[in-house]
Amino acid sequence: MEALYRKYRPRSFSEFLNQNQAKIVLQNAIEKGKISHAYIFTGPRGTGKTSLARIVAKSLNCPNRSGYEACNSCPSCEAIDKGTHMDVIELDAASNRGIDEIRKIRDAIVFRPLQGIHKVYIVDEFHMLTREAFNALLKTLEEPPENVTFILATTDLQKVPPTVISRCQVIEFKNFSQNDISDLIRKVASLEHLRIDEKAVEILARRANGGMRDALAMLEQVVRFSHEKTITSDTLQEALGLIPTGVVTDYLTALRSGRAKEAMDLIDRIYYEGKDIEGLIHSTLDHIEAKITENFSEELVELGDRLISLLRELRYAENKRVICKMISARIASLFVKESATVE
Ligand SMILES: [Zn+2]
Repeated sequence: MEALYRKYRPRSFSEFLNQNQAKIVLQNAIEKGKISHAYIFTGPRGTGKTSLARIVAKSLNCPNRSGYEACNSCPSCEAIDKGTHMDVIELDAASNRGIDEIRKIRDAIVFRPLQGIHKVYIVDEFHMLTREAFNALLKTLEEPPENVTFILATTDLQKVPPTVISRCQVIEFKNFSQNDISDLIRKVASLEHLRIDEKAVEILARRANGGMRDALAMLEQVVRFSHEKTITSDTLQEALGLIPTGVVTDYLTALRSGRAKEAMDLIDRIYYEGKDIEGLIHSTLDHIEAKITENFSEELVELGDRLISLLRELRYAENKRVICKMISARIASLFVKESATVE
């Protein structure tokens, strides 16, 4: 099974959802022949930075380009899609931090493009380059040769030296909305002949946190797990090891109504079923967030706040079960007292 994320990766500007600002800037530059020699694509993971970088590389090298859009069927376009084009070089700085690579790039860019028209260097997670590599890169950016464009992608612009930023055009990528992600999940599911219920779509879209790659990776995990053509919220929760919605609402109700013992028993149950206790708290927070968005409640905000502190406590704790039980009991007892004083 081909990875869904790769299979449904957008291959043209028109297929590329959202990020309209980024698209317009790049489309105009391509059409007017005013492409910069260096761009920084900055934004959260899974927001399409490297996909759009490849689309730009295709447009710059396609002999049959119409407007800003590459033809997607010539040898150049196909080579870029396959990652075999000699003038479109991709480097992942997360696994390859070295100065040698950047030096190689620096030495190689003095030569004219071999196969195409325009050399494009795509460096992913480039904030992870070593200081020496940054300096070598900077030298290259200071005297950019003709027909070479750097596209430097990063999830963490703050780690990039200002001297590099000032030599590049910065393009921001935004998180996808939950609706965009839901649409994509429905579309991919139908193309893959899967039936997926709305509750499952919602859970996936929420857990993807604005990233398309995570959404499709999770969908794939569910498909591999269940071998079934129908995906319900139950199969999804089981496949991803999520806490079932019923358990989450039981836990929340126990806390809100001050039933400490019930909340503690529930944590034991989760633990002995081999499920993740932090997952329970995360899911409860997701649930609270959804409820507050629908219908604001001061009490739920307070509860959410306490659960966030609980998560912090759990993070480095050795005995998560005991700590989670104790703090949950304390939270529940607060709600008993508060409702008692109100009455
Ligand atoms: Zn082409």
